[in-house]
Amino acid sequence: MKIDILTLFPEMFTPLTQSIVGRAAEKGILKINLIDIRDYSLDKHRKADDYPFGGGAGMVMLAQPIFDALRAVGTKGKRLIYMSPRGKVLDAEMVKALAEEDALVILCGHYEGVDQRVLEYWNIEEISIGDYILTGGELPAMVLVDSVSRMLPDVLSSKDSALEESIYSGLLEYPQYTKPREFEGLCVPEVLVSGDHQKIALWKLEQSLLLTKERRPDLFAAFLKKAETLRKEEKQVLLKITKNP
Ligand code: SAM
Repeated sequence: MKIDILTLFPEMFTPLTQSIVGRAAEKGILKINLIDIRDYSLDKHRKADDYPFGGGAGMVMLAQPIFDALRAVGTKGKRLIYMSPRGKVLDAEMVKALAEEDALVILCGHYEGVDQRVLEYWNIEEISIGDYILTGGELPAMVLVDSVSRMLPDVLSSKDSALEESIYSGLLEYPQYTKPREFEGLCVPEVLVSGDHQKIALWKLEQSLLLTKERRPDLFAAFLKKAETLRKEEKQVLLKITKNP
């Protein structure tokens, strides 16, 4: 997947060179192209914003440098996204759909945002990462790129492992433990060291169901609707949890 990111602050994107996303780029699965919008400013001081027409607080990003940057990177066949608190809130379904694309172009706003003519002329889709305001679109863009890159084939050890995580699996994940078996008097649940794989699987399911019921009743209700796909022993675990208030 190729991702062009248009920003006033390309130096903010070093996190994308690290960890799983960084390795995806090294393997060539993901190609991230950072474009400094100021490089396309016609102003001798590389100005890329101005006061809003009609007054109001803050500055607005100029249309011209963004138009020229978009023309330079090329938009044909690419999904255009503007990170924006006015957009549809990013969720698991959107992440999966975005991961199916071959190329994305992500525009990061700053100050009060971009001149509306950019969004209308280029027909750019607005995507939010939640109902709060950040200083710029750089962190939201990194959230989107990170979440999407995890869904790309061969980025994680197997594609299935992405779909087994909280939310994607339809449930919240069970608690995880690692060595040592006892730490400061705190013990790992006995079943996890029993070696009985069936018992372990049922314990994990039970813990997931308990957590989901308590913290995300919306997900729990949706999971109940798909319960007929469960095996007999799994159904028994589910029944036990639904019966307990
Ligand atoms: N004046 C804008 C408004 O009220 O809708 C907010 C501008 S915000 C300070 C600056 C930039 O940060 C936005 O243009 C957008 O690119 C980005 N941004 C802020 N919050 C965001 C969010 N929740 N999701 C996605 N992008 C966000």
